[in-house]
Amino acid sequence: GQSTGSGSTLKPYLRRKKSSLGETKIAVLGMSGVGKSALCVRFLTKRFIGEYDQANDNKYKCTTTLEGESVTFELLDTRSNDDDMGARDDVVRWADGFLLVYSVTSRQTFDVLADVRRRVEDMKKVSHVPVILVGNKADLAHVRQVTQDEGARLAAELSCSFMEVSASEDVTKVMDAFHTLCREIIEYKRRSRTFLDRVFGL
Ligand code: GDP
Ligand code: MG
Repeated sequence: GQSTGSGSTLKPYLRRKKSSLGETKIAVLGMSGVGKSALCVRFLTKRFIGEYDQANDNKYKCTTTLEGESVTFELLDTRSNDDDMGARDDVVRWADGFLLVYSVTSRQTFDVLADVRRRVEDMKKVSHVPVILVGNKADLAHVRQVTQDEGARLAAELSCSFMEVSASEDVTKVMDAFHTLCREIIEYKRRSRTFLDRVFGL
């Protein structure tokens, strides 16, 4: 956005463009192989291609319409190793919200996520960071290891949203997951702004 040169450095950030919900920065975290890249590509292109770049962090930017207002997504598809799940310092600092992804076909990928959330909140030094828990590969019913109930229970424990999706089979739910997180980020930013308004009269 262009600043019009007001006195305060905070104001350009706080001012909202007309009919724009603003920008949301989303990092996608989880063990490798859970389908983080597949989810990002599905969200951005509506396609599932089967093979994804494993070697790099991939950053994307797109503007879309949500409830009649434009919103800009910045997505960071992390190249996770199984020590950090993608939740590195710089990533966590950068993001406004997090898609925590596991595969319903692998209990291990599910079990690590409570800890990832804890690390995110420790690094951010705040609680209630916008997060959505996403169980991917719901199409693979015959090799499922984590039930939908278990997913819902963990989400309740973490007090975050939860969805089961399939990057390969169903585009609607994938869109839903990103949009849900996006709404929570916008809500969260609004609340912080209201807080700043109150405290500093900005
Ligand atoms: P990442 O390491 O978390 O980025 O995982 P990828 O996106 O590279 O996906 C790992 C593998 O799982 C790839 O072979 C994908 O084609 C596959 N995959 C991803 N999502 C799904 C899904 O929803 N269903 C199925 N059956 N396979 C998936
Ligand atoms: Mg990947």
